[in-house]
Amino acid sequence: LGASATFWELIERRAALTPDRPVLIQDDHTLTFGELRDRCERVAAGLYGLGVRPGSVVAWQLPTRLETALLSFALTRLGAVQSPVIPFYRDREVGFALRESKAAFFAVPGTWRGFDHTAMAHRIAADLEQPPQVLEAYEELPDGDPAVLPPPPADGTAVRWIYWTSGTTSDPKGVLHTDRSLIAGGSCLAHALHLSADDIGSMAFPFAHIAGPDYTVMLLLYGFPAVLFEQFAMPGALDGYRRHGVTVAGGSTAFYSMFLTEQRKDPTRKVVPTLRLLAGGGAPKPPEIYHAVVREMGIQLTHGYGMTEVPMITMGAPDDTVEHLAETEGRPPEGMEIRITDEDGKPRPYGTDGEVRLRGEAVCQGYLNAARDAFDADGFLVTGDVGHLLESGHLVLTGRLKDIIIRKGENISAKEIEDLLHRHPGVADAAVIGLPDEERGERVCAVVEQPAGARALTLAELAGYLRTEGLAVHKLPEQLEVVDALPRNETLRKVLKYRLREQFS
Ligand code: ATP
Ligand code: MG
Repeated sequence: LGASATFWELIERRAALTPDRPVLIQDDHTLTFGELRDRCERVAAGLYGLGVRPGSVVAWQLPTRLETALLSFALTRLGAVQSPVIPFYRDREVGFALRESKAAFFAVPGTWRGFDHTAMAHRIAADLEQPPQVLEAYEELPDGDPAVLPPPPADGTAVRWIYWTSGTTSDPKGVLHTDRSLIAGGSCLAHALHLSADDIGSMAFPFAHIAGPDYTVMLLLYGFPAVLFEQFAMPGALDGYRRHGVTVAGGSTAFYSMFLTEQRKDPTRKVVPTLRLLAGGGAPKPPEIYHAVVREMGIQLTHGYGMTEVPMITMGAPDDTVEHLAETEGRPPEGMEIRITDEDGKPRPYGTDGEVRLRGEAVCQGYLNAARDAFDADGFLVTGDVGHLLESGHLVLTGRLKDIIIRKGENISAKEIEDLLHRHPGVADAAVIGLPDEERGERVCAVVEQPAGARALTLAELAGYLRTEGLAVHKLPEQLEVVDALPRNETLRKVLKYRLREQFS
């Protein structure tokens, strides 16, 4: 594959190689690589008939279905710029995405899960200076004769994707990607996981997430299929895993615990007999989860570090040591440069925490309407994440710059305290935040979700536990808030710390 290969080229190559092998499976529907190519061409022609041209900006907010994959890849055939939006987003987030991207078209599923997306689309469009043309694309897709199509795009280095960050730390940012950056990310993932043509994959994340094209690149490179879930929920999803003999399950961190919960219902039988690997990332993973999955499920778990800006940065490899798999985010693939720096961008030595900066083919082109602001003078993306490198090349993430609490001038990592809290039996989940404090600058506040039926925790009890675990006195939480449920985003179920800071300040 040349350096300027396009997504569409990848689809055409695979369709020519193994036209009859399945690529996507949902319920009882299977799409082969050959059908994928042929149907995408028809959908592309239909979109062309509606006025979509190479370079048109097309936003879509569609559930995870075969049709959505067809629409998305039809857009790559046309050379349009697509901007996927997570299906659960509502007026505020969707309005933001449409306004910022100046989308000319917006594809929605009509009424989906009881919510009228078409009405929302028109409501938002009415407030926009350049309202998009609203298209419905659920079971029925635009259709046309491929003879009308212009030639496919030739250049994989043009911006063709706008993805939205999760909005964990602030408003979402539009991230600009090229076919080349997404193909680079997907090939690295494929390489790290040691998969083969005999695998059966699965996606337990929204197709509208950047992991969607990333995962698809893997299918196109190796020629194996993946199972999709329109509404991913346990235990229902287990039926799909079992029925289709899934060997590799991909999802975010929250999904490891979902599998464990199911496995624990009957420890004597493998919850999905064919499954051999859980692969995920995108959020912190407590080491205990790693050990529990391996021990109780009898399978491998590889965890990675990624972000909307760089979908694959590091990944655990199946041949890493147990310690590296449990305690680190894995290693970067060839071509991914990681620099750990001080505030001025000067590199820091192995073992020393600093800000993570990244350079390489899989890195985005910057942010929409602020293109190069995210890069330092050497062309490294400035991530705001904090961590260190081991001499073995493995990365350890310790938190985010925004997650560092500065109390009386001492830096305290929220993650260090959270990791300890996760091991306490009275804690189901925990988030540690810094709150403004006149005397100390910031004070440490622990926000805790307790397991059902657990006895209420007190601050003194929790502090006592953290002390016996060896936490330094100056790091002990001075405030405890017990909540029913931590506020989370819809995509990866990540905790929205800015909400907690607002609530408890
Ligand atoms: P926003 O940028 O809008 O505030 P966000 O950074 O959460 O939101 P994403 O791009 O979805 O949006 O998430 C990327 C971030 O997730 C990374 O920058 C990092 O902080 C965190 N993350 C990803 N993988 C891991 C991991 N393996 N361990 C810990 N944190 C991770
Ligand atoms: Mg971010």
